[in-house]
Parts: sequence; C-alpha cells; structure tokens
Amino acid sequence: MKKVLHRAWAEIDLSALAHNVESVKKVLPQNTQFMAVVKANAYGHGDEAVCKKLLELGVSWFAVSNLEEALSVRKICPNAEVFILGYTPPECAADIAKYNIIQGVMSASYAKELCANANAPIRCHIKLDTGMGRIGFQSKHTDACVNELLPLFDMEMLSIEGIYTHFAVADSEIPCDIEYTQMQEKRIFDVYDRLAECGHKLQHIHCMNSAASIVRPNERCTLARIGIIMYGLLPNYPVELPIELKPVMTFKSVISQVKDVFDGDCISYGRTYTASETRKVATVTVGYADGYARLLSGKGYALVHGKKCPILGRVCMDQLMLDVTEISELVQSGDEVTLFGNCEITADKLASLYGTIGYEIVCGISKRVPRIVIE
Ligand SMILES: *Cc1c(COP(=O)(O)O)cnc(C)c1O
Repeated sequence: MKKVLHRAWAEIDLSALAHNVESVKKVLPQNTQFMAVVKANAYGHGDEAVCKKLLELGVSWFAVSNLEEALSVRKICPNAEVFILGYTPPECAADIAKYNIIQGVMSASYAKELCANANAPIRCHIKLDTGMGRIGFQSKHTDACVNELLPLFDMEMLSIEGIYTHFAVADSEIPCDIEYTQMQEKRIFDVYDRLAECGHKLQHIHCMNSAASIVRPNERCTLARIGIIMYGLLPNYPVELPIELKPVMTFKSVISQVKDVFDGDCISYGRTYTASETRKVATVTVGYADGYARLLSGKGYALVHGKKCPILGRVCMDQLMLDVTEISELVQSGDEVTLFGNCEITADKLASLYGTIGYEIVCGISKRVPRIVIE
C-alpha cells in the first residue's frame, strides 16, 4: 500500500468482516437467514468490496435504503435478493420490477401508487410500525391492521412475500425497554398469524436488527437484518455483546509537520488552546471534510507510534494538530496516525466523546477518503 499517496484513508479489513459474519451466524437460529444491511455504501465501508466478500461468505440477502443503492448492489450481486427497507418514489416502480428488487410497503396509499406505476408485479414485504413510529402500517390493533392489509393481497401488481418491522430499543438492557421490544414482537406475530388464518401465510417475517439478533434471537424469524455488528461495532456502546467483534474500518492519516511550541503560543482557529510550557506538536492531514468531527476539537485523541496523543485546539477542514510531546523522540513528518478503528480507539469510543454513535462516525467518513481494502 502506497500510503504516501494518501493524506487520509480508511482501511477496510475483509478478514474482520468475515470473522464478524461467522460469529453472528453461529448465534442465529437455524432457520434464520442472514440479511446483510449494506445501506449507505455499506455503512461507509464501500459496498463493492463488502458485498463481494459477503457473497463469498454465502450471504444471499442484502438490504439497502433506496433504489440507487439497490441498483449498485444489484450490479455487484446479480443473483442475490436485494431488499429496499425504505421509500422508493412510486414512479420508479418499473425499475424495481426490472431489477428484481424487493420493496418495503409502508402504507395502503403507497401500495396503490406503486401498482399504478408498475408494468410488472412488484415483489414486496409489508412494513409494520409496531412502535418505532417511523414508517409502516399501524399495528396496535391487530384486527384493524389486518383489515387494512387484506386488500393489498388483491392487487395484481403486488406480490407480497413477507412482513417486517423495526425495533426501537432492542439494544437496551432496561426492563421497560425489554418489555417494549416484546410488545413490538407480539404485534408483528399477531398480525402475521391472523393473516395466515385469512389464507395469507407469508414466506418471510423479520424484525431482528443486530442487537435483537444477539440478545433475543427469535427462531420464528426467517431473516435477520444485520448491520452494525457485521462492521465490528456495538449497537449500544459501552454495553458489551457476548460475541467477539472486530472493527472492519480503520481510519488513518499522516503527519505533515512537527514543531515545538512555547509558553503562550496558540494553536488553531479561535485560539482555544494556548501552550503553558514547551510542547511538541504534530499537524495531521485530516479534518472535518474527511468526516473527522469538529466536535472532537480539544476532546479527541489519535494514535501515533502506539501512543494516545490528544488533539490540540480546533479540528480544521483538512488538518488537525496533536500533542506528541510524549513521543517527541520518535515522531517525524510522514509518520502514520491512526484516528480510530481496530485499535485502542474504536469508532464507538470516539463517538462517545462527543455524544454520537459509532454508526454515525463510519457512515460520515466522506467521499474524498479512499477506502483501501485489506484481505
Ligand atoms: C439500518 C437498519 C437495520 C440494521 O440495524 P443495525 O442496528 O445496524 O443492525 C435493520 N433494519 C432496518 C429497518 C434498518 O433501517
């Protein structure tokens, strides 16, 4: 790898991905298939390399958030099942059918609009809102919900193959949250069973995300939608999971300059840091335009020669400064800097420093950062 070509890059470790997939498969019920959630360019990891590796690992279901992502995955995986979790404009109905994509259907009006725009039957799964409050048929009252769903089975342009819902607090250990998840689960199974009684026994039912798949695997689910743990991060840091995960993405950069600063010298915009004694300072070629959050100003730290070095002052668009005093004998321009990843500083840990989640960190690594695949 010619790291000198890059100012900031993300290493994508496919052996870590394989490790995570195998670990998760071991805890899934026997009849539950692995659906890899690869939305948002595989959570920022790059959908091409990730999907190819997943195919190799025997994964045959892929979930995305929209049609553009679905078409990208379809190109990489010509024979896999590609599932759109969210809204696709009904005008795109023809493409959904043409590329054999499965669409989530969240309301009766959406179903009608899809059908009105379709020229061939559209494969779909019904989305229930069992308590997430985001999208889906309201399912608090089983009868009312089933009555709303039944007409969909008469629509010629709709081929209904499954039903699904999404949990709001599956990652929580708090008793009332656990109860809430059980309630959500009951709602979808009640609707599923009632539809079966009406002669519509659906092939697929799924509700588990990463957290639920590990904490409360349900053998009635035919599919499990696995996102964050596949990438080696935790659904709810710092709550540990009973399986070992390896972060797939490691974000790196290089030092462009090393200098001494003295008592009274200021660092970066806003002069939020002023040295009170002689310090060794390294400038690193990464900033918020790469997805390294400005909110980490004065809070974050990065690894240089294996040592945690604090950020001094504000993170700039393309650069930031580290206090490398403790390794002043070793450090020089051109040295590699590890910002987060499969190391002491996980994306989850960094996220907790400024009030977000690891998901947002990896998804937020920007387009200008090359993804370097490591086998
Ligand atoms: C993103 C998403 C998932 C994956 O969630 P993780 O917590 O990353 O496993 C599953 N289902 C739906 C509907 C989603 O939007």
